[in-house]
Amino acid sequence: AKELGRNNFQFFTAAMNARVKEQLQLETDLRRAVQRQEFILHFQPKVSCSHGGITGFEALLRWQHPVRGLVSPMEFIPLLEETGLIVPVGTWVLQQACQQAAAWHLAGHGQLTVAVNLSARQLQSEALVQDVRQALEDSGLPPQALELELTESLLMSHVEDNIALLNRLKAMGVQLSVDDFGTGYSSLAYLKRLPLDTVKVDRAFVQDITADPGDASITRAVITMAHNLRLKVVAEGVETEGQIALLVANHCDEMQGYYFSRPVPAPEALALLDKGRVL
Ligand code: C2E
Ligand code: CA
Ligand code: CA
Ligand code: CA
Repeated sequence: AKELGRNNFQFFTAAMNARVKEQLQLETDLRRAVQRQEFILHFQPKVSCSHGGITGFEALLRWQHPVRGLVSPMEFIPLLEETGLIVPVGTWVLQQACQQAAAWHLAGHGQLTVAVNLSARQLQSEALVQDVRQALEDSGLPPQALELELTESLLMSHVEDNIALLNRLKAMGVQLSVDDFGTGYSSLAYLKRLPLDTVKVDRAFVQDITADPGDASITRAVITMAHNLRLKVVAEGVETEGQIALLVANHCDEMQGYYFSRPVPAPEALALLDKGRVL
């Protein structure tokens, strides 16, 4: 039994070493990716519940690894966070997203918004406000066409510090959204202290709204309360017609999800626009 235990332990450490090596390799590759510009943005449309047209796009980061192919942000965003690389990459995302949206505006889609996800490290960075200002200035995009998405848990973790920062961003005229709402155990009443424009209801609730009466009533309650607080509501992860019917009936403002489109490269996003309504 002792022998077996030792073998298991050796097996375990070998597996751990492999994981650590893999992580280190990924980290080395990530540093190189920044220099070699292996990142690109994909765009997922947001669709109006009232007219079915596209109101804007969320920019989502993709990494085209020379060997592994397209790596999911779930795998590399945490590493970018840990290494602090998220700050320069985040600056690049802001620049690219604003340039892209400005190009859509010039192509005759002047009402479109673009949403950019922000991470914890970026919020702590002194440079954030200046980065946002610079991205708007360089692209010529009107500030109200830029939305910044911050997760509920991120907002709740340092509310007091965030209030001042969000007020500075808001003063520039950009729009602010709470992302993944419903996962962080906070209430909208608490978030009211922040200068927010939009609430994005997390996919976890939207997923089950047609099957789970509990999730349906949570979603309904969030929509009602958000509207009372003059916040716009976007439902994430919409995949079925049943979900759409329920969201529309409950006066949700906008929807996002695979039903309409997966996140796609910029040229395909433009094609979606030219096709007109997706609902
Ligand atoms: P998120 O901000 O909540 O983005 C939504 C995620 O849900 C995206 O995953 C999107 O592809 C996926 N999604 C959209 N519709 C559906 C649907 O109908 N069904 C399902 N199953 N999934 C759907 P993605 O692109 O893999 O991004 C994952 C997360 O990585 C994002 O979650 C966001 O937190 C983070 N992320 C992505 N890009 C950036 C970025 O530029 N900066 C930062 N800080 N984080 C980013
Ligand atoms: Ca988001
Ligand atoms: Ca989300
Ligand atoms: Ca459920």
